[in-house]
Amino acid sequence: MMLDRRTALVTGGSRGIGRAIAEALAAEGARVAINYRNSTAAAEEVVAAIRARGGEALAIQADVADGEQATRLVEQAVEAFGGRLDILVNNAGITRDALLLRMKPEQWDEVLDTNLRSLFFTCKAAARVMLRQRAGRIINIASVVGLTGNVGQVNYVAAKAGVIGFTRALARELGSRGITVNAIAPGLIATDMTEQLSAEYRGALEQRIALGRLGTPEDVAHAAVFLASDRAAYITGQVLVVDGGLSLG
Ligand code: NAP
Repeated sequence: MMLDRRTALVTGGSRGIGRAIAEALAAEGARVAINYRNSTAAAEEVVAAIRARGGEALAIQADVADGEQATRLVEQAVEAFGGRLDILVNNAGITRDALLLRMKPEQWDEVLDTNLRSLFFTCKAAARVMLRQRAGRIINIASVVGLTGNVGQVNYVAAKAGVIGFTRALARELGSRGITVNAIAPGLIATDMTEQLSAEYRGALEQRIALGRLGTPEDVAHAAVFLASDRAAYITGQVLVVDGGLSLG
């Protein structure tokens, strides 16, 4: 197995893409901490599914938009794993869409705090441990819209473009210590998040996808497993686009 004896923390692992990543890392042998904010039952279900397949997992509640909780989350995972953290996946994310002129400051703050500010705290806490280990993998879930822009999402696009910049800067800081930092930019993936979009808008987007279908959470999870594995040892500071060709134009 590619990730035998590794330990991993996935933020927002209770549903959607985070769940698929947690399960895929576990399927490759990693012990996985699954973070969630509200969905206790869903997170416990992911833990049970991993254990049923002979894997090791635990759930940790924390709101990553809160700096203290985000830091404590990483510390709790490290404690649970006996002092090690090999893989951090910053996946927790939300949207609060509105055109700029109608967007409320709270919608801006909530999205920036959850999708970007959280990384400052989780990465800082994880980097302390990874620097000691002289090894580690940080994988940040961005979005293609962080590269292309999107109407009605100045908050989300700014956060995801920020995640990409953060990834490149941190990759330079940590590279000499054997730690890689990469981002994945998914396109339109079938999860609760995209369920909120109108059928009309989804249909219009779908027509622009070269591969002709929405992505699955597993499509993204395969990329995360690759970036977490030894096979990606010489890849850092990159953005891996997993969008079925949506951003080709
Ligand atoms: P989702 O189905 O809505 O799931 C979001 C997950 O994040 C849930 O596990 C949720 O926990 C967790 N979460 C949200 N806010 C949190 C907070 N403050 N603290 C801790 N956990 C929190 O979303 P998704 O579609 O899987 O998206 C996952 C990531 O991929 C996000 O970063 C998103 O921006 C990105 N992405 C998604 C798409 C797409 O098309 N779906 C495309 C590009 C990028 P609870 O269950 O407790 O609420």
